[in-house]
Amino acid sequence: MDELKELNNKYFKVVKLADGVFALIGTKDAGSNGGIIDLGDYTVIFDSFLNIEAASKLREVAVKLTDKQPTYLINSHGHFDHIVGNIVFADCHIISSEPVRKKIAEQKIELEEGREEYQARLAELIELKEAENDSLQKATLENEFVFISNLIKEDVKIIPPKITFSNKLILTGSARSLELITYENGHYPGNLVGYLAEEKICFMGDLLFAQTHPWLGDGDLVRFKQIMKQMLREDVNIFIPGHGQVASKKALKLQLKYIEEIERLLKLKKDGQEIDIKDLSAEFSNWESKYIFNFNIDVLAGKKLS
Ligand SMILES: [Zn+2]
Repeated sequence: MDELKELNNKYFKVVKLADGVFALIGTKDAGSNGGIIDLGDYTVIFDSFLNIEAASKLREVAVKLTDKQPTYLINSHGHFDHIVGNIVFADCHIISSEPVRKKIAEQKIELEEGREEYQARLAELIELKEAENDSLQKATLENEFVFISNLIKEDVKIIPPKITFSNKLILTGSARSLELITYENGHYPGNLVGYLAEEKICFMGDLLFAQTHPWLGDGDLVRFKQIMKQMLREDVNIFIPGHGQVASKKALKLQLKYIEEIERLLKLKKDGQEIDIKDLSAEFSNWESKYIFNFNIDVLAGKKLS
């Protein structure tokens, strides 16, 4: 695994995982991670970032690394931080599962109809950020600010995928095949991973967060744990998370433990106890995006525990 330092930029660093297989580890400006997979006679992009300039850079780097324009773009799931850059790949075939396509199509309408509300919220956030002294609250507001400011940029238009599938789709190229495998829920309904069997590499989308608090509020904890256990049995050595650095099975084990701890804390909260991020085990104390912890607890406390 080599970092291609000459290709790093303000949006992502480029990590070569195998010949023709690259992880893009996004900065806060990009919003998430992505991937470039050269199948030999054509190139596939995995996820497209929150920021359209980051997506343009991704396209530029893909052409440089694979010597051809990309043919397919995969959307691992529908969260904005993975799909806003779709517009930069509007000439490609965009693929997802059907639940993800449906969600993205709905979000496209919501965004178009809610533009003015988003603009008002952005103005409000600037004042709220200024007035906030608590660092965790400030980070929460800052995150929302980055999200909305990327969504309401003049040239942003949400482009839903046009090709969908259930269970498994195999893209076969002259050099290698990429298997797209869907999972019912976990992080998001119909989320999918990109698996390279020969190289034992898996692009996880947000089914994996490495050293950073995973967003659990749109998913299903029981299902998420099942998926982690299933993945731990798979013949994979390298996992590219949706957020965080390139990881190994250790990251899956840790995320499984995190979910179990969240379940434990939710039960305590249900019994009337106050819950704090410090109630998590010490191994999670240096995880990034701490503000997500409170989101997880608040949103999940409103859902039924199974
Ligand atoms: Zn997500």
